[in-house]
Amino acid sequence: MPRIEIDLPLSLKTALEQEAARSGKDLGAHIRAILADHLKAEVHTVFQISTSGALVAGVYDREVSVGALLEHGDFGLGTFAGLDGEMVVLDGKAFQARAGGEVHEAPAEAGSPFAVVTRFSADQVGETEGVTSFDGLGAACDCFRSSNNIFHAVRLDGRFKRVKARAVCPPKPGTLLADAAKTQSEFTFEDVDGTLVGIWSPAYSAEFSVEGYHFHFLSDDRSQGGHVLEVEAGPLRIAVENLTDFHLILPETEHFLKANLDQDVAATLSSVERSHS
Ligand SMILES: [Zn+2]
Repeated sequence: MPRIEIDLPLSLKTALEQEAARSGKDLGAHIRAILADHLKAEVHTVFQISTSGALVAGVYDREVSVGALLEHGDFGLGTFAGLDGEMVVLDGKAFQARAGGEVHEAPAEAGSPFAVVTRFSADQVGETEGVTSFDGLGAACDCFRSSNNIFHAVRLDGRFKRVKARAVCPPKPGTLLADAAKTQSEFTFEDVDGTLVGIWSPAYSAEFSVEGYHFHFLSDDRSQGGHVLEVEAGPLRIAVENLTDFHLILPETEHFLKANLDQDVAATLSSVERSHS
C-alpha cells in the first residue's frame, strides 16, 4: 500500500485517536475508513451477485446488467444470462468469452446471473516463480495472501506458455450446472501475453462462493479468454487485494426464490470448476 505523510493540528490528531479507540480500530484503519466513506470509495469491498449454489441449481436468469455491475467494480469474474459464456471484468470493462471461442466486450445491457467484482486496489505486489499447473499457480499465489479467512482479489500479468480454459455453452433452461458443464468448450492458448483475473474465497464460503482460487483469463489483445482449468507460465507479476467487506446481492426472481438450494454445492462445484483430464 502506498504511504502518505501529512501535518495535522494536535487537536485533530487527538480527536482521531479518541474516535479510533472508541471504534476499536487502529488509527490507520480508522483514517482509511473515514476517507473511503467521505470519498464514497469502496475499499477492500467485494460485491457478489447471487450464489454458487443457485448456479449449481440451474438459476441462470439475468439478475443484473453489465452496466450496473461495473458501477460496483472494475475487476472480477462471472457468467452471462443463460450461461452464455464466461465473464472477465478487467480495467473497468467486461468481456464475454463464448463457447465458440470468440471474445468481445460485453454491452452494458447484457445480463448476468452470477458475478463477483471489486474496485481493484493492490495490498501486496510482487513476482511469482514460474508455474506448471493450476495447483502450482495456487501455491505461488498463496505466498502473497495475508490470511485464509478473508477473500482476496488476485491479478497476474505476463506471458503464458499454455492456458487451458473453458467456456460454458447455453444449456436448455432448467439444466443443472453439472449437466451444463458436460457440453462446455475447452481451448488451449499457447505463448500468449495476458492477465489472470482471480478471486480467492475461504473454505467457509463454499456454500455460496467458489472455494479457493477461481481464475478467468484474458489475452492482452482481448481475443482469447475463458475460465481457467490449467496453466503454465514463467514468472508473473502479481497483485493481491485483501477483501474484507463482502456484499452479497441475492436475486428476487421467482426462479431463485423457489429453487431448492439445500444441496451439496461444494462437491458439485469442485467437479465442474476444475479440469477433467
Ligand atoms: Zn469461472
